[in-house]
Amino acid sequence: MNKKHNFSAGPCILPQEVFEKSAQAILDFNGIGLSLLEISHRSKDFVAVMDEARAIVKRLMNLGDDYEVLYLGSGASMQFAMVPYNLMKVGGKAAYLDTGTWAAGAIKEAKKLGTVDVVGSSKEENYSFIPKNYTVGSEYDYFHCTSNNTIYGTQMKSFPEVNTLMVCDMSSDIFSRQLDFSKFDLIYAGAQKNMGPAGVTLVVIKKEILGKTGRENMLSMLDYSQHISKESMYNTPPVFPIYASLLTLQHLENNGGIAAAEKRNEAKAKLLYDEIDSNPLFETFCVKEDRSLMNVSFNITDESKKEEFDNAWKAAGISGLNGHRSLGGYRASLYNALPIESVQVLVDVMKSIR
Ligand code: PLP
Repeated sequence: MNKKHNFSAGPCILPQEVFEKSAQAILDFNGIGLSLLEISHRSKDFVAVMDEARAIVKRLMNLGDDYEVLYLGSGASMQFAMVPYNLMKVGGKAAYLDTGTWAAGAIKEAKKLGTVDVVGSSKEENYSFIPKNYTVGSEYDYFHCTSNNTIYGTQMKSFPEVNTLMVCDMSSDIFSRQLDFSKFDLIYAGAQKNMGPAGVTLVVIKKEILGKTGRENMLSMLDYSQHISKESMYNTPPVFPIYASLLTLQHLENNGGIAAAEKRNEAKAKLLYDEIDSNPLFETFCVKEDRSLMNVSFNITDESKKEEFDNAWKAAGISGLNGHRSLGGYRASLYNALPIESVQVLVDVMKSIR
């Protein structure tokens, strides 16, 4: 197959090895004469997958036994509801940072369960920067932020010191850069960017934060404690996305871990931003200091050259470069699995339009 240079924002490119190994598992899993898709999730072969998928996350994030790792069905959007349901005290309030469409989605859901104070927002400036001047005190049950704004191409370069629990939606930059993950009490991420196929969401929770809301008769499927007590098998888990996520994380671990991925991601982003900054035909939507290493959202400054550019990148075998429908323009997603050679192809096309 002649593979395209896949800049899609998600679902998106994954390591080739993941496709090959998961195709084999679909045909004959572990040589047991059965497909991964036709065995019980309680069989020893799948339980081993789940155990390792949970363990590898802690290894990569350098987290100890005070954290639990869950793989939950449905998307990151489900966490917009589960986070307040599990962490907001009855009659309590939470602080949210509004940095884009997904952050706003999380805010909308949390407001249905309690009081939300938006402590910082860049909405009025079309989410072109990350707000920085705010404080979060102990009157809040937790603080929620979005580490990377997939649509607008902004990324939090540092995280605030807060006097409450720290919750982060890392859907679009999980495992892309080194962070002190122990700073966070709860991290969640839909798998379909740096981890695997859509259909599963990673949730990493510090155990001691649960069970403090005063909420009674919690709905079991929305209760993190239930999922923890059943080791992420409260109900039938999405076996294929979990297996493919494990393969992706093993690939990451075998290729230098997060530290090496971060270096590769920095080099890719530098290559593209350097071209945008030196080529008057292109500009980013956001301020320089908050530019994302994962999603480069940019525009063309001369509309009369748009058709030529569009034809050229398509002819070069590039796919998935159109911007999100709410922002327009272009978006080059540089997730872990995208090779720098693909970025070079895009940069060469951009140079050719000058
Ligand atoms: N949060 C962020 C940062 C995202 O980029 C997305 C989707 O792109 C979501 C949440 C929603 O994810 P899902 O479609 O898995 O619900």
